[in-house]
Amino acid sequence: MRIWNRKTAGFLLILALPMALLAEVGRHEGDKVLYLDKFTGDAAAYVSGVEAESNSRGLVLAPGEDTEYVRAGMYVSETMRAHRWFRSVQSGWTCGVPDGTSLDVSFRFSKSRLGPWTRWFVMPPEMEVSLEESHRFIQFRARLTSETGYRTPRLESISLHFGEARDEEEGLPSGEVVELPAPEIVTREQWGARPHRGDYASHVPNRLVVHHTSSPSAEQYTGSSTIRGIQNYHMDAPSHGWADIGYHFLIGPDGLIYRGRPETVVGAHVIPNANKVGVCLIGDFQPPGADDLTAEQRASLVDLLSFLAGRYGIVPDGIKGHRDYMSTNCPGGRIYELLPELRLEVGDRLGGS
Ligand SMILES: [Zn+2]
Repeated sequence: MRIWNRKTAGFLLILALPMALLAEVGRHEGDKVLYLDKFTGDAAAYVSGVEAESNSRGLVLAPGEDTEYVRAGMYVSETMRAHRWFRSVQSGWTCGVPDGTSLDVSFRFSKSRLGPWTRWFVMPPEMEVSLEESHRFIQFRARLTSETGYRTPRLESISLHFGEARDEEEGLPSGEVVELPAPEIVTREQWGARPHRGDYASHVPNRLVVHHTSSPSAEQYTGSSTIRGIQNYHMDAPSHGWADIGYHFLIGPDGLIYRGRPETVVGAHVIPNANKVGVCLIGDFQPPGADDLTAEQRASLVDLLSFLAGRYGIVPDGIKGHRDYMSTNCPGGRIYELLPELRLEVGDRLGGS
């Protein structure tokens, strides 16, 4: 006789809902988000020793060679994005755990799709975890075991309830994450960068700030040596003495995109710097400065802004000019006037958002 110890944890609503596969975004139920997984291979980052039942109602141990089931299996979900930033999470799941079997579900959290991740939190149903910082992405894993191999636990659904969003306070990005192809970028090794000094501080990008160099002008640009000159100035000039080149990216008149600092660390290009990615166009775009964006430079700028906006879920309105924050001509009148047009183009790339 099978004894099912059915736990209806968290939200009974789950049972009444159709099994919709929402691989990346939670289902809104008032202020709750329910996540239901069909536990198919495509919705998983890793699967071993487990499989979905044919009716997709649950995740169970895979058939064994000598026994009905293998004795242990693991399922790791793909990375999921919550509909909002959260500081606390309550898990709910429905399952059957017959005697002699066990089922553990754990979750981990991240600010960005690419990590870094918190540790794994083992979360029994109805457990709430409070986090020190806001996070946006979730991954869960389920470990199934069977002592004898003749019974299997079954995981039927998972739900999550996110609490305490702090979007406004922290100005965190609220756009959709869209994976666009990464533009070609000249690496620090390729342009001969010096190593940075000390430790970088990490941040989550939520604004893209466009600059110009003013000096050097487009005419003075000589490729990598120009970028090295800017880095030397930022690190060595008594007025600066920064840890590294201030910008995250620089774009030459030839359209080459150079890597400055990693965009996941705080730069030195505006005040305040936290959460802002600095993209610097080489040239003097402030009249009477002679420069105008070249076609190559413009194309690279749109590629780069679109890629970054998509990766970090930054809305097109999050594309700013340096002068939006400080009293400065930067990024030059010709570029600043172009920003509304660039936002529209980036919006088109992101799918019209
Ligand atoms: Zn600037």
